[in-house]
Amino acid sequence: MQKNFAQLENFGHSLSAPSYLIKPTTINEISEAFTFARRSGLSVTARGAGRSYNDAALIGGGIVLDMRGMNAITAWDAKSGLITAQPGATLEQIWHKVEPDGWWPPVVSGTMTTTLGGCLAANIHGKNNFRMGPIGEHVVEFTAVLPTGAEVTCSPKKNGDLFYSMISGLGMLGIFTSVTMQMKRIYSGLLSVDAFPVRNLHEHLNSLLEGAPNHNYIVGWLDGTASGKSLGRGQIHATRYLKEGEDPNPQETMKVANQILPPLIFGVFPKSLLHYFMSPFMNNLGAWGINTAKYIASLRKHTFRQSHAAFHFLLDYVPNWELSYGRSGLIQYQSFVPKETAEDAWKEVLNLSLKNGLPSYLGVTKRHRPDQFLLTHAVDGFSLAMDFKVTKGNRAKLGAMLQEFDKIILQAGGRFYFAKNSETTAETAQAFYGQETLEKFKKLKKRCDPHGLLESDLYRRIFE
Ligand SMILES: Cc1cc2nc3c(=O)[nH]c(=O)nc-3n(C[C@H](O)[C@H](O)[C@H](O)COP(=O)(O)OP(=O)(O)OC[C@H]3O[C@@H](n4cnc5c(N)ncnc54)[C@H](O)[C@@H]3O)c2cc1C
Repeated sequence: MQKNFAQLENFGHSLSAPSYLIKPTTINEISEAFTFARRSGLSVTARGAGRSYNDAALIGGGIVLDMRGMNAITAWDAKSGLITAQPGATLEQIWHKVEPDGWWPPVVSGTMTTTLGGCLAANIHGKNNFRMGPIGEHVVEFTAVLPTGAEVTCSPKKNGDLFYSMISGLGMLGIFTSVTMQMKRIYSGLLSVDAFPVRNLHEHLNSLLEGAPNHNYIVGWLDGTASGKSLGRGQIHATRYLKEGEDPNPQETMKVANQILPPLIFGVFPKSLLHYFMSPFMNNLGAWGINTAKYIASLRKHTFRQSHAAFHFLLDYVPNWELSYGRSGLIQYQSFVPKETAEDAWKEVLNLSLKNGLPSYLGVTKRHRPDQFLLTHAVDGFSLAMDFKVTKGNRAKLGAMLQEFDKIILQAGGRFYFAKNSETTAETAQAFYGQETLEKFKKLKKRCDPHGLLESDLYRRIFE
């Protein structure tokens, strides 16, 4: 078992942790890593693609299991749409495999680089959360190895308590080793997108609420720099699948080659260099300029067709875009608030960020519904994700402001998502998970991991 030393970072490059890195390729090697950890008194964290914005896949001074060595797709049935893959397989691998046969993953994140293991551990949501729930609702079965060395198979009916807690369990109960999921039938490689502007937060949230029942996906861009009467303005993309027969040439549009995001802009300029050109705009004035220009460009209401990959993975258009935020990186703050209280809560949050001179440079809204997973982040309402630039000078002020946000969100009956928030405290987590949920989680943790081997920096921050 080879162990390397590595200084690992979160996706936002705002945190880092020194760790021993082990890259298992078999279940045996995962078990050996647990045995080694127990003997040497070290903690263990699994890591997929490291796309969590926070400390979920970091463990200072511990062992990180880099799961990307276990990334095979082991079974695909194009008739039933059932796929089985190892946990290190990425969403990119999955959609490349299934789309040419007329299927698409039912839930995807805003980047295709995430792994199945990471997606299950966080129980990711897509722009269709209000309709399809989180990814866990489409998992038919998974296998996992526990820190005790035991191997378990879980489905909603078999070991149901583990099924509903390991999915959403932030990698703290065991390591996924295989996942079987149901894909969604599609009849075209294209989606139909209605794009229209919204003038303020009230109109924004109403459009998400009213547009969701008539669409398969809905997502809003929110201008975090707009104030006063324009607070919360932005643009909605309400999207639907094409029905059977609507696309005259589905075999062509569903080809991977016709989905892939082009590597060059205007056919000549490599996208990989684009983040260097974005850097000079990553300040309050530049962000105001970009957001204002985007809002003006969005004033034209229109409908267009877009490939699945382009619609879902817009952020992948600019590789390493996060580097444009500079050396101290960025923090993404995502809150989930019931529909009855969201408008007032986010008015307060947005105004507070403007008052502090710390506006969000990118804001994204979605419509959600609750789910039955143990550490759920969902509500019958909306989410707002806000990206904040971190600098040496603003770090303390930003941290304090995000804790103020937490109070507002808690007061509004909201929740938080631990693939994102990095400032939320144990007290806040206790308040929104509730004592009963935390007791259940602790009991399961004792059962699956009696020696407490699985720990991440996030776990230490929130659960210990
Ligand atoms: C650009 C961008 C867009 C995003 N958009 C969305 C979005 O739309 N919706 C959404 O929900 N999230 C979104 N995310 C967050 C992302 O989907 C989650 O953070 C996801 O968990 C990352 O997967 P990963 O493979 O990188 O996992 P990592 O970040 O490496 O790990 C995440 C968690 O999974 C655990 N883990 C990893 N592998 C295993 C395994 N085999 N067994 C057990 N536990 C494991 C880790 O211990 C950790 O707790 C986005 C992130 C980025 C960077």
